[in-house]
Amino acid sequence: MTARNLLLLPGDGIGPEAMAEVRKIIAYMNEAQGAGFVTDEGLVGGSAYDAHGAAISEEDMAKALSADAVLFGAVGGPKWDDVPYEVRPEAGLLRLRKDLELFANLRPAICYPALANASSLKPELVEGLDILIVRELTGGVYFGEPKTITDLGNGQKRAIDTQVYDTYEIERISAVAFELARTRGNRVCSMEKRNVMKSGVLWNQVVTATHKEKFSDVKLDHMLADAGGMQLVRAPKQFDVIVTDNLFGDMLSDVAAMLTGSLGMLPSASLGAPDAKTGKRKALYEPVHGSAPDIAGKGIANPIAMIASFAMCLRYSFNMVTEADRLEKAIANVLDQGIRTGDIMADGCRQVGTVE
Ligand code: ATP
Ligand code: MG
Repeated sequence: MTARNLLLLPGDGIGPEAMAEVRKIIAYMNEAQGAGFVTDEGLVGGSAYDAHGAAISEEDMAKALSADAVLFGAVGGPKWDDVPYEVRPEAGLLRLRKDLELFANLRPAICYPALANASSLKPELVEGLDILIVRELTGGVYFGEPKTITDLGNGQKRAIDTQVYDTYEIERISAVAFELARTRGNRVCSMEKRNVMKSGVLWNQVVTATHKEKFSDVKLDHMLADAGGMQLVRAPKQFDVIVTDNLFGDMLSDVAAMLTGSLGMLPSASLGAPDAKTGKRKALYEPVHGSAPDIAGKGIANPIAMIASFAMCLRYSFNMVTEADRLEKAIANVLDQGIRTGDIMADGCRQVGTVE
């Protein structure tokens, strides 16, 4: 069997603690199931800065480019607040996203039955919730030019951000959303604001054309992004896959995250384009939470987001769907037994980890 090459970048803060739990799963899968994972390790963020003076070394970048998938913990912390901007911890993640061309950011919002009460909504609105938000990650207003602040001279300044999308960028992100929908509920809702934005008009046209051409078996709806945000809070279970641009995706995925409870639960994946020869995509998997310096080193961090990120890796990078399902089921089982970290603690549950 061909090796499955993983690069582990645990990073800073609680990153290494969370990654340690995934290492146990990888070791188990290799021993018990002959899964053939070959892991390599690298430094990213503050820990890379301390060792090499850069947020990620060229050597580790090369490893990331050749790995089948990258597992990323978290970066940053007060120790590196004053390091130069170009080498700040977050620069490591941005470099990875850019050089691996990870244009599709996937954020599932799953509500585990045992945690339905932890949602900011009524339990009946979110129990069984299973949404996947597909956010365009490398274009749009975050990168469009011009991007300036100009002094107008009369005590006034003018700030300009520019939303730019080309057809190919919308085609490839919508293709990812349709492909993923086929493996789930077979429904996609595309969100933009075509009523006020030209980029929204093009977005709508290209998603519609891509659907007609290659994915007409998938059900497609369109919503204006503001109405979509409202619907996400009013009746979240109506959605299966949501596809949207960089800015709306940033906001809508945070809204969806809070439907489900804690930050410590949420995984993410960032995917690149399929290789022309092998069809394999570059991919990076990371928890949505940050390095949580306030609890780092105490052994109380919730490892579920990192473990669920590895489940996404099994599913999307290695097509190990059964194994991914089993890992997600194992998470649900642990929660059903009332075993909790502090961030998702509720009455009658048993807390793991040492608390000071
Ligand atoms: P970043 O800027 O890197 O995204 P942040 O400041 O937004 O980081 P986090 O580092 O994610 O935020 O932490 C926010 C809060 O959530 C902290 O109080 C932290 O302790 C808590 N938290 C984050 N992740 C976890 C986790 N896995 N388990 C328990 N608590 C967590
Ligand atoms: Mg944050």
